[in-house]
Amino acid sequence: MKLTTTPYWWEDRPPAPDLTPQPPEKTDLLVIGAGYTGLSAAIAAHDAGANVTIVEADQPGIGASTRNGGMFGAHPRLSLARLTKLYGQETAEGVFSEATPALNFVRDLQIRENIDCDFQQSGRIVMAWERKDFDGLKKLAEELSSTSVKAEIIEKADLGNEVGTNLYYGGILMPQHGSLQPRKFHDGLLNAALKRGVAIVGECRVNSLERVGGGYLAKTAKGEVRADKIILATNGYTDKSFPWHNRRVFPLPSYLIATEPLSPNFLSQLAPGRRMMVETRARHSYYRVSPDGTRLLFGGRAAMKPIEIHKAAARLAATMAEVWPETKGVKLAHAWTGNTGYAFNHMPEVGQIDGLHYAMGFSGSGTVMAPYLGAKAGWQAVGDPRGQTAYLGTRLRTHWLHPGGKPYFLQAADLWYQYAVDTAQNIKARL
Ligand SMILES: Cc1cc2nc3c(=O)[nH]c(=O)nc-3n(C[C@H](O)[C@H](O)[C@H](O)COP(=O)(O)OP(=O)(O)OC[C@H]3O[C@@H](n4cnc5c(N)ncnc54)[C@H](O)[C@@H]3O)c2cc1C
Repeated sequence: MKLTTTPYWWEDRPPAPDLTPQPPEKTDLLVIGAGYTGLSAAIAAHDAGANVTIVEADQPGIGASTRNGGMFGAHPRLSLARLTKLYGQETAEGVFSEATPALNFVRDLQIRENIDCDFQQSGRIVMAWERKDFDGLKKLAEELSSTSVKAEIIEKADLGNEVGTNLYYGGILMPQHGSLQPRKFHDGLLNAALKRGVAIVGECRVNSLERVGGGYLAKTAKGEVRADKIILATNGYTDKSFPWHNRRVFPLPSYLIATEPLSPNFLSQLAPGRRMMVETRARHSYYRVSPDGTRLLFGGRAAMKPIEIHKAAARLAATMAEVWPETKGVKLAHAWTGNTGYAFNHMPEVGQIDGLHYAMGFSGSGTVMAPYLGAKAGWQAVGDPRGQTAYLGTRLRTHWLHPGGKPYFLQAADLWYQYAVDTAQNIKARL
């Protein structure tokens, strides 16, 4: 079978729904980008009474929202101490206390809108690549114990019940986390917005924004739109048309492969716990079994910059064979990539500058946080108090290495990264 370079999730995709061909001349709220963030923002603002239009540069869902690994869950990426140092105690504690409400919000949204996205309460295990990583994970579990986020420590001796490899030093299990089919989740949000009468216009890139009176004039590929408020929901696809955001959120590619169907016995040997599985090493491998229980999906940072997809697939297959030597020679059916929108502090922010609202910087963890913070942005844009969140305080920052435009620093970062990955591998091999 030939390797297909579109996402596995796009197999059996239903026909695209009819969209609005042209944007209106005037709208209360213009949402830019039709991924999880933009759709959720539009639904929240519409339900709060606003007249909403979404414009999308390509087709809705072309970005990360139909390409991701479908690992569902969010816990703070940084420790409480680190968050406190960066943003102060109130924001740090607020971020921790919002983790479970965010997850519940998105699950409720799926249930309320009847979104069938193959959700499974699978739980997620985070596995330590090095001994010191396991110490860090134990500390995280301890910090989380004072919040509503559940995390159970798994000692190395017990890890074999979850994953058929001896490679890791231990891990933590987050039982509240789950899994879904990301394209189906996106389809469900898209239909929920369309059902409400939200105008969604495809192939309608916004090229520039001008402040006009109390609102904005958006110049799009399909004409000009006046809007009182704007929400920018472009995450890893934010270009230099939006310089403030472009300097703070950069596109970091992530790659995924899906194997051909494998036997149930073989899959049970590799992933007996059927969890969402992620590891702590720089390669940031994440893997799972497909929702129908037939294939292995293996993702990771095959490179820090865009590379040819077959090369990325070969690197991922090699990493997969490090985790499970018995997968060597297993045939691949799909390999694909997408942009995560990375923030220099690894934390997303929802906020506004001069009436331009935004939620972005999900840093590779957006199945929960993008729809959650999208709704917060939608409510903030219409002045609804439900927009309150600690993520107003997780300020996106710049870095001198990235003056804007394309993230050229990733070329150098990739050289370092390949070296670090090889070195880590050699050290591990000697242990
Ligand atoms: C390969 C991969 C694996 C991932 N795995 C996971 C995972 O397992 N779990 C998890 O939680 N997260 C995961 N993520 C992250 C998650 O997918 C994202 O955080 C989330 O989808 C972001 O949603 P979004 O709506 O903000 O952005 P996107 O879905 O990327 O949508 C942004 C949209 O903006 C549009 N756009 C850009 N510029 C313009 C413009 N000027 N005018 C109009 N439209 C514009 C783009 O075309 C795009 O459709 C992964 C990401 C990738 C790439």
